[in-house]
Amino acid sequence: MASVQEILDDIARSPKATSDVGKVADYIPELAKVDPRQFAISVATADGKLFCAGDCDTPFSIQSVSKVFVLALALGKAGDSLWKRVGREPSGLSFDSILLLEREHGVPRNPFINAGALVTTDSFLDGSTPREALGALLRFVRAASDREDIHIDENVAQSELDTAHRNFALAHYLKSHGNLVNTPEKVLGTYCHQCAIEMTTSQLALAGRILIDAPDMPNLLSRQRKRRINTLMMTCGHYDGSGDFAFQVGLPGKSGVGGGILVIAPGRASIAVWSPGLNDYGNSKLGTEAMAQFANKTGWSAFG
Ligand code: GLN
Repeated sequence: MASVQEILDDIARSPKATSDVGKVADYIPELAKVDPRQFAISVATADGKLFCAGDCDTPFSIQSVSKVFVLALALGKAGDSLWKRVGREPSGLSFDSILLLEREHGVPRNPFINAGALVTTDSFLDGSTPREALGALLRFVRAASDREDIHIDENVAQSELDTAHRNFALAHYLKSHGNLVNTPEKVLGTYCHQCAIEMTTSQLALAGRILIDAPDMPNLLSRQRKRRINTLMMTCGHYDGSGDFAFQVGLPGKSGVGGGILVIAPGRASIAVWSPGLNDYGNSKLGTEAMAQFANKTGWSAFG
C-alpha cells in the first residue's frame, strides 16, 4: 500500500487538472479576494508525525472551523448546562438559516450552525471581555498545535463585521428569546474575530490532535468531550451537506467558508485540507473531494 506521503502527493496533483474548483465565499468581501486555485492538505498522526502536500505553509481564514475550538472552551466553562441553550440535531438547513430559530423558540439546533455558534461564543464570553476571550482562544489553539505564530486577521474580521447583517439578525432573535447574555454587538464582535483566525493546514491538523488520543498532547479535553465533539462534527459539521460528507468520507469533519476542513480519523490522525472554492452547501468543493479520495486510499474510517 502507498505511504501517507505518496497518497497526499497524489491527491495534491489532481486539483491542478480540475476546471471546476467551486466558488469562493463573496459575502465576506475580504474572502472574495482569495485565489481559488490554491490547495493544501496536512496529516498530523497520533504518534506525532506530520505529512503535507500543496500550499500547506499558506495561512487561510479558518472561519467556522473555529466553532470546534470555541465549543470545546464553552463546554469547559459552562459544562453540560450549555446543552440547555443549544441542541444536538442536524439542521438540514444552510448554516445561516433564520427559519428554524423561529420555529424552535430561540434554541438553535446545534453548535455548528451560526445561531448555535453565537450561543457558544456568548457562553464562552461569560465574565470576560472580548479581548480576554479571544486571547484565551488563541492560547488554546497555539497550545494545541504547539505553534506560536497563529493570529487573527483584523481585515477579515472587520470585513465580516461590516456586512454581518444576517448574523446580527440571528443574534437579536436569540436575545429576544432570552438565549443571549451579552449584547449582539459584543457577541458578533467576538464571533467575527474568532472566525478570522488564520492558520495553515499543518497548524490546523496539529491543533486537531486535541480530538484524538495522542499520547504527547496536553490533556485539554476529557475522553467523553472528545467523543461528543467528534460525533457532532460527523452529524452537523457540514450543515445541510453533513449527510453527504459523512457518506463520502466516513469521518467526522468541520468545514469553514474560507475553504478549510478539519477531519478526524479517530485514534489515528487529524487531517486538514484547504481549497477556497465552495460547493452549493458552502463547504470546500475540492477539499471534500480530496477527503473522499484520502479516506478511500487509506481505508481510514470512523467505523473500523
Ligand atoms: N464567519 C462565517 C459566517 O458567519 C462563518 C460561516 C462558515 O464558515 N460556514 O458567515
